[in-house]
Amino acid sequence: TPETKPLVAGNWKMNGLRSSLDTLKTIASGAAALVGKTDMLICPPATLLREATSLCSRTALRIGAQDCHSLPSGAHTGEISAAMVADCGATFVIVGHSERRDFQSETDAIVRSKAAAAHAARLVAIVCIGETGAERQSGETLNVLKRQLAHSVPDGATATNTVIAYEPVWAIGTGLTPTTDDIREAHAFMRADLVSRFPGNGTNMRILYGGSVKASNAAELMAIVNVDGALVGGASLKADDFLAIAGIY
Ligand code: PEP
Repeated sequence: TPETKPLVAGNWKMNGLRSSLDTLKTIASGAAALVGKTDMLICPPATLLREATSLCSRTALRIGAQDCHSLPSGAHTGEISAAMVADCGATFVIVGHSERRDFQSETDAIVRSKAAAAHAARLVAIVCIGETGAERQSGETLNVLKRQLAHSVPDGATATNTVIAYEPVWAIGTGLTPTTDDIREAHAFMRADLVSRFPGNGTNMRILYGGSVKASNAAELMAIVNVDGALVGGASLKADDFLAIAGIY
């Protein structure tokens, strides 16, 4: 089943003009070599979604959005619904990225409703969780992960419609990563939590690691038990870097 393959996902954030579609083409070409081995996904800005899905329609590269609204339609100027994302041909959507939790004040409850909206639109929701530096310092990491899993992941989550992305906030864009032992501990903890809440699905629900993943550390990070792939920010903007990260498997 697809969910037992690793997933290497790129989040372009607020980067990318139509001129960046060449990068997407290069990544899509490279993705062919990893068919059957590794699933690959790029989440470009919403403005590029439709062109991205057209470009990648006959390739192994999947396309996702970086966010969606929790409601299907209505008076919400500037927002994009999960149905609109699906209508573009995208198949994934990131919800609850730490930048949105921070700058847009998204709570666990909002993230959960967005993930449920994604499911209703038949999108795979990538639900992001992770502790801040202060929470790590005070030994709260596992409590934070438990709370975020409980309140950000909707009851309808399955191994097929949901991917968890563990992204320590202090590791995003900083060049810092937790130790291998810390990542192993966090992922084992999340796995146990998912298995107990979602019997039959928790075992295969993919748990990605995100935070300063690059070509030079990807192999080591991806080899950790219960790390089922990566969510990559900065290093997904260059085709060579992103393909090197994915090709490690
Ligand atoms: C991210 O923001 O999802 C991320 C992992 O960023 P970076 O790879 O740049 O640390």
